[in-house]
Amino acid sequence: MGLFNPTDRNEGTVGSQNLHSGLPYWLVRNGLSSSFFQLAEDVRADVVIVGGGITGALCNYSFSSAGISTVVVDGRSFGTGSTCASTALLQYEIDTPLWRLVDLVGEGNAVAAYHLSIRAVEGLKATAQSIGFDGLTSRPSIQYASKPSHAKQLRMEFKLRQAHGIPVELLDGQEAVQSVLPFAAAAALRCDTAAETDALAFAQALHNASVKNGAKMFEHTHVVEVKEVKAGVELRTEEGHHIRANYMVYATGYEALDKLPKDVVDLNSTYAMISAPMDVEPWIDQALIWETATPYLYMRTAPGGRIIVGGRDEPFRSPKLRDALLAKKANALYGDFSKLFPDTSFKTEFKWCGTFGSTKDGLPYIDRGPKTRRCFYALGMGGNGITFSALAADLIRDRILGRAVPDLDLFRFDR
Ligand SMILES: Cc1cc2nc3c(=O)[nH]c(=O)nc-3n(C[C@H](O)[C@H](O)[C@H](O)COP(=O)(O)OP(=O)(O)OC[C@H]3O[C@@H](n4cnc5c(N)ncnc54)[C@H](O)[C@@H]3O)c2cc1C
Repeated sequence: MGLFNPTDRNEGTVGSQNLHSGLPYWLVRNGLSSSFFQLAEDVRADVVIVGGGITGALCNYSFSSAGISTVVVDGRSFGTGSTCASTALLQYEIDTPLWRLVDLVGEGNAVAAYHLSIRAVEGLKATAQSIGFDGLTSRPSIQYASKPSHAKQLRMEFKLRQAHGIPVELLDGQEAVQSVLPFAAAAALRCDTAAETDALAFAQALHNASVKNGAKMFEHTHVVEVKEVKAGVELRTEEGHHIRANYMVYATGYEALDKLPKDVVDLNSTYAMISAPMDVEPWIDQALIWETATPYLYMRTAPGGRIIVGGRDEPFRSPKLRDALLAKKANALYGDFSKLFPDTSFKTEFKWCGTFGSTKDGLPYIDRGPKTRRCFYALGMGGNGITFSALAADLIRDRILGRAVPDLDLFRFDR
């Protein structure tokens, strides 16, 4: 059935996408993982996971902890796709606010999606703890009104979330906002159900924990063909080796898009930068800060007294155009930050850009592929792709184990 496109392979590129450029801080900070060999023989497992970024790593750990044998292959070194570019804010808030999501998918579905996201963020915290990974830290999340007129939306959002038992606090008026933020805004929503991480280090830690569960893992192993056969799936690598399994999971990030109907995802370019270490407490509780405007500006702290600023998204046209804008976008982000924090001297140490996918309703695709029975897609989308990946790992695991998973309808390709 499926044939991957192995052309165009070079640094940062597998298949048809070039996922990031500039110097993603996390890649510099962590370096490459403990290095797994290329697949050099035929292999078999209950499930083959293609892609060893954060999605593949969460699937690997979730499945192998449940006694499902796994083999993970990646054309790159694990985590060096979009994972190492991620600014890794972990939030339950979907890019689409609840009041708007209700209009798009109905109240029951919208509320279920928010509750599942809360569960996923809590699940990420529990997973990090269970593998002894200390690079995932709970933080509050604060969304402020970009303009005074946006305060009305935040009040409406607050009422709706509160009515459905979704944890949130409304800070109404400048004085209330300035009790948690060092700048003024007409209103803000705050919650404690959030976290920040280093997605590359987390993926590496999850893979290492999965090895202890018996997972087999191979880097620099590019899958060029996928066939669904009677008893399962059969994959062929570029070097001609075969991987046989009962099920397959596409954890291929945005490179899976070649194989999907054209209109399911819009690709965007996004920009980020990180400061040199600063000996200041930039704001209270090191909250994750973002705004109501679209695309939104966001800020978080990082270990060692650094600040990350990101946003200035725009529709993706080509890697070349995305990269050509990097210097201009970094300047704009610097200007955005300086307006809010005129007294903080932000010295940019690294800047980078990446591609991410978004859907019309802000929800991910966690589904069997079109015309397949044994191939699942785990495609987290939008600003909380990692939260969705955690959700995908558990939902697909339950599906493979034959447990009832009613929520999967929300995330179907044909919804
Ligand atoms: C700048 C930036 C900021 C972001 N900020 C956030 C954030 O704050 N919070 C959040 O939740 N999300 C964020 N995201 C999104 C998040 O990073 C992504 O959702 C996540 O990294 C996707 O991980 P993945 O493992 O699915 O994909 P990837 O990391 O891209 O991994 C997919 C892997 O599949 C492999 N692969 C593909 N095809 C094949 C093949 N044929 N054979 C073998 N291997 C193959 C690739 O080599 C790749 O390593 C951000 C993204 C960017 C770019």
